[in-house]
Amino acid sequence: MRVDEKTLAEDIVRMSGTNVKKCMKCGKCSATCPSFEDMDVHPHSFVTMAEEGDVAGLLKSKSLWKCLSCFACVERCPRGVEPAHLIEAVRFFALSPQGLNKMKPDVVPIFLQNLEEKGAEVPQQLLTSAFRKYSK
Ligand code: SF4
Ligand code: SF4
Repeated sequence: MRVDEKTLAEDIVRMSGTNVKKCMKCGKCSATCPSFEDMDVHPHSFVTMAEEGDVAGLLKSKSLWKCLSCFACVERCPRGVEPAHLIEAVRFFALSPQGLNKMKPDVVPIFLQNLEEKGAEVPQQLLTSAFRKYSK
């Protein structure tokens, strides 16, 4: 892991407000996730990767765009780790180069087209959630 990747990982974890060190790898977050089957990196693995500073792996994960922001993993986690907030923070970093950390209406079609070309499907809930959160 490069030093700048380690710093970025620390920034993402700090921004998410999660404490990845509290994770006891029980897998309950993944077991309750409705998008489990569609994910290449499952919620508990996301936490581990963030803890290990694997930002590149997190950013290229299809799971970023499969998470429905339902927060079932947050409810289920016995240690209060809140994996969904971590996924949201990584999404933010994935989207931020698209325009000064903001998501504007005119970038949405381009954003969708880029993802579709990579074979990713974007749930409506994700788009609504991201737009509400990043367009302020
Ligand atoms: S918030 Fe995302 S990761 Fe968590 S349970 Fe829902 S779909 Fe899965
Ligand atoms: S439910 Fe919580 S403690 Fe268990 S693996 Fe998921 S994040 Fe870690």
